[in-house]
Amino acid sequence: MSTLLDEISLHHPLKIGIIGGGQIGKMIAQEAKRMSLKVVILDPTKNCPASTVCDKLIVADFKNEDKIRELAKYSDVITYEIELANSEALKNLESKKYPIFPSPHSLYLIQNKYRQKKFLQENKLPVPEFKKITSINDLSFIAEKFEYPLMLKASEDSYDGRGNYLIKCKEDIPIAYNSFDNREIFAEKYIDFKTEISIMVARNKKGQIETFPIAENIHKNNVLDTTLVPANISPKIYKDAEIIAKNVVACLNDIGIFGIEMFVSNKDDIFINEIAPRPHNSGHYSIEGCSISQFEQHIRTILNLPLIKPELLRPTVMKNILGPPNFSGNYRIRGMSKLLSIPSTKIHLYGKSLTSPGRKLGHITCTGTTLDEVIKRSSFAKNSIEIIVD
Ligand code: ATP
Ligand code: MG
Repeated sequence: MSTLLDEISLHHPLKIGIIGGGQIGKMIAQEAKRMSLKVVILDPTKNCPASTVCDKLIVADFKNEDKIRELAKYSDVITYEIELANSEALKNLESKKYPIFPSPHSLYLIQNKYRQKKFLQENKLPVPEFKKITSINDLSFIAEKFEYPLMLKASEDSYDGRGNYLIKCKEDIPIAYNSFDNREIFAEKYIDFKTEISIMVARNKKGQIETFPIAENIHKNNVLDTTLVPANISPKIYKDAEIIAKNVVACLNDIGIFGIEMFVSNKDDIFINEIAPRPHNSGHYSIEGCSISQFEQHIRTILNLPLIKPELLRPTVMKNILGPPNFSGNYRIRGMSKLLSIPSTKIHLYGKSLTSPGRKLGHITCTGTTLDEVIKRSSFAKNSIEIIVD
């Protein structure tokens, strides 16, 4: 596919293989199905969120090389919704000319946060100061240098803040260090940020790059709680952050959509927190808020279709529906009639049959004329529902 794809056959529809059938895989699949494309999912869970909207489900671990090859056999192109995908197995497939986007090399770079930060630093992109930690003495020394508080992070297999430890004082060091067992870790300077933002950036084969409107993110207990668009940042920060985000994707020199998370410090410096080589939770707002969703833009990149510049249609707020603390198991969502009586409000339920503390079960998106109005509407919407244990 060297030139932009111009024809879609409905007799032999293109087949997209997705590693991971969580909510992101599901929303990619939903967009693909709108264009009558076929979707094949690989996920370890038989009733994963995407299972209800895909054409074929391969139940296997994300790392299972045989099953990844099987996924390739049933698909024309492979993408992934999680960093846990097996970059080595994907590299092997790619070496046989199998199309995988974003490339297994980007996945490899990004799936280890330390390697990712090194890559950004080497490309002169702004990241908080960081240092690999190999012993507790190392950590004590760096803590004095970085000053308190500081972050200790696992390089791999962490999400929703689960691999992060905020070290508040010297006395926290032993417990923080030991909490990681033998995992690869690094220390990172704590950024006293005034705003946390993210930008979705798509790049196609031709090198065309299109950015989504910048989102402002509010985390609670290390998990994304609310995304507000437009972000409350100055035009200068907006422009600078957009340039940085485009540079990240230009340096990756790859095809696909990327979520770039950033901090805006109290001194108005911008630091990149991390990159996601896939649609991102903070980009879900684009389904209702933009002229194109992050999922459609992603599909366009991997199929070599034209990209368009996403426009913000109206101020938009997205709120995650998270599993409440203290219980795991079957659940119901109560308050649907109240929620669905609210104008310009949409609920997305991912179809996870079990809840656990902080688990992402769905999200609510509200739009409106002014951001203030939408903030109020989204709080009202969120408070109108309740998660009840069965
Ligand atoms: P996610 O899956 O939500 O992206 P994660 O496990 O990859 O989370 P990070 O993105 O590293 O974790 O951190 C989660 C949150 O913790 C950040 O969004 C931010 O609010 C806070 N955080 C992380 N690093 C720093 C830092 N250096 N300074 C200040 N806050 C930080
Ligand atoms: Mg993050």
